[in-house]
Amino acid sequence: MSKILKEVIISNEQYAKNFNTKRELQAAPIKKFAILTCMDARLDPAKFAGLSEGDAHVIRNAGGRVSDDAIRSLLISYKLLGTKEWFVIHHTDCGLEKFSNKDIDKEFNLDSKNKIDWLTFNDNEKSVVEDVLKLKSHPLVPNSIPIYGYIYDCKTGNLKEVFEATKAGTKFNSST
Ligand code: ZN
Repeated sequence: MSKILKEVIISNEQYAKNFNTKRELQAAPIKKFAILTCMDARLDPAKFAGLSEGDAHVIRNAGGRVSDDAIRSLLISYKLLGTKEWFVIHHTDCGLEKFSNKDIDKEFNLDSKNKIDWLTFNDNEKSVVEDVLKLKSHPLVPNSIPIYGYIYDCKTGNLKEVFEATKAGTKFNSST
């Protein structure tokens, strides 16, 4: 058994010992919101957003990008599990800002036929705006869901609003 595997199993046994009232939790998030953010190990949404088990959906991927799968999860989050507000949170010092798609292709020796869009970006604020707009303009995302854009600062732990993103994400169309 690897050292990590052992550590995880032991930690989980400890965790489950104090499970208590968490057994009563339902699948629908109590606080009715979802966060889409990066998988970066320095980010702990439960801590930086004050969440407990059962409070919110946290969807994570490399970059916190609005990939097809992030859209799939957010649509299920709202339609089947009742979330009413969404956050898109990128962060400073993100790996996806340091590499281009080409750089990552090279790591895998990918040829032009087997390209993957790694969803890298050059401008962090712009990438948050792009992602919020992508969600906002998706035909299955109702206009009634406000979408907030933020960047988490890995040096201070603060969330900094990307005003342009939030402005676009909270624009309501009176016809919906
Ligand atoms: Zn990142």
